[in-house]
Amino acid sequence: KGVVAIVGRANVGKSTIFNRIVGKRVSIVEDTPGVTRDRIYGDASWLTREFRIIDTGGIELENASFTEQIKMQAEIAIEEADIILFVVNGREGITKEDTFVARLLQKSRKPVVLAVNKIDDQIYKDNIYDFYSLGIGDPIAVSGSHGIGIGDVLDEIIHQLPAVEETQEDDVIRFSIIGRPNVGKSSLTNAILGEERVIVSDIEGTTRDAIDTAFEKDGQKYCVVDTAGMRKKGKVYENIEKYSVLRALSAIEKSNVVLMVIDGHQGIVEQDKHVAGYAHEAGKAVILVVNKWDLIEKDSKTMKKMENQIREQLKYLDYAPIVFVSAKDHKRVHLLLPLIQEVYANSQKRVATSVLNDVLIDAQTMNPTTTFNGGRLKIYYANQVSVCPPTFVLFTNDPQYLHFSYKRYLENRLRDAFGFEGTPIHILCRKRD
Ligand code: GDP
Repeated sequence: KGVVAIVGRANVGKSTIFNRIVGKRVSIVEDTPGVTRDRIYGDASWLTREFRIIDTGGIELENASFTEQIKMQAEIAIEEADIILFVVNGREGITKEDTFVARLLQKSRKPVVLAVNKIDDQIYKDNIYDFYSLGIGDPIAVSGSHGIGIGDVLDEIIHQLPAVEETQEDDVIRFSIIGRPNVGKSSLTNAILGEERVIVSDIEGTTRDAIDTAFEKDGQKYCVVDTAGMRKKGKVYENIEKYSVLRALSAIEKSNVVLMVIDGHQGIVEQDKHVAGYAHEAGKAVILVVNKWDLIEKDSKTMKKMENQIREQLKYLDYAPIVFVSAKDHKRVHLLLPLIQEVYANSQKRVATSVLNDVLIDAQTMNPTTTFNGGRLKIYYANQVSVCPPTFVLFTNDPQYLHFSYKRYLENRLRDAFGFEGTPIHILCRKRD
């Protein structure tokens, strides 16, 4: 999927335009705790193309001047995006920050779409010609607040989007190692790659500067996604939370399995919840890896206690197995690849329709539906419609009679019956015509 980043000074209308482009699409798991509402990225589509859009205006550097702030945003945009949507204010004319950003963008040689905003009246129409002097292409007149010109901007974005990438080999398990800075992601990557009988080969990514590391162990091919993000430690703005979350997000998207690393010494903090929330929302298989376990004074109850804490704080990831490791001492790291294989297989699992329906009939016999929303749910039959994550559709008399706790119950029955450890499962409810 192509990535578009919006840059521009404060108050030129970046987030208004962002919201126009993303629209009000509600994510599947709206109520995932920990996922912040003030999103700086979204998925958008225009005509038949889909792309991701980032509002760099939401990435803030503390105690920075306007110039430092916009420099950081432009650099992140250049690093992350295929196309840059540069927004300027058509009522104020060119400012020195605009010129500064234009230079940075020019140097990057990334395609730029120039939107001149706040042209919501004919009288401002001619203002856009001034912006030719930025030297980055034809200005497009828009009004974010009135929705004028957005279609032209989208046309231009689609025009510039890179061709769709070739599909990936399907015998490779792609996984990412995500988590806050300093939890030990690089150390863990190295520990995994340094294991016995691991045969590594670097492949330069085709897009941007992403580097994925391919390797093979015991006849299974793997690929650690986006190891570049880890190697360039310190160089980029990795300590800005929103930026590191964004990086995690693009790694998650390219993976089949996500290893979410937690610092065992510090426990779960707020930022962990954000990152974990995204992994969950993306519907990927997840393994929780508690690292730095060597630093903990342990007795027989320590592990159980930590496990309970994690379960309490990351309730929605109750399907994710927890592994305690020390990347530094290479302790228990060998457990990870077999577990990755297992949760991957679970996320790919397809169950036979007849068995699925037997399980649901049993579930209803043991615990019949009750009246909810003025009616009682009748489930006629169910079907698995996809994998990654396994997704089931229940055909019913009326979806509004499905109480969330009953859905939860059914999910647990499916998990007991089919063993979906490590993978989320989605249950959708439809009305049978
Ligand atoms: P990243 O930012 O998540 O990639 O974290 P790094 O892998 O760079 O690790 C951050 C710091 O934690 C480094 O000083 C590591 O040496 C240290 N570290 C990583 N894993 C462990 C571990 O298992 N035990 C201990 N004691 N330190 C670790």
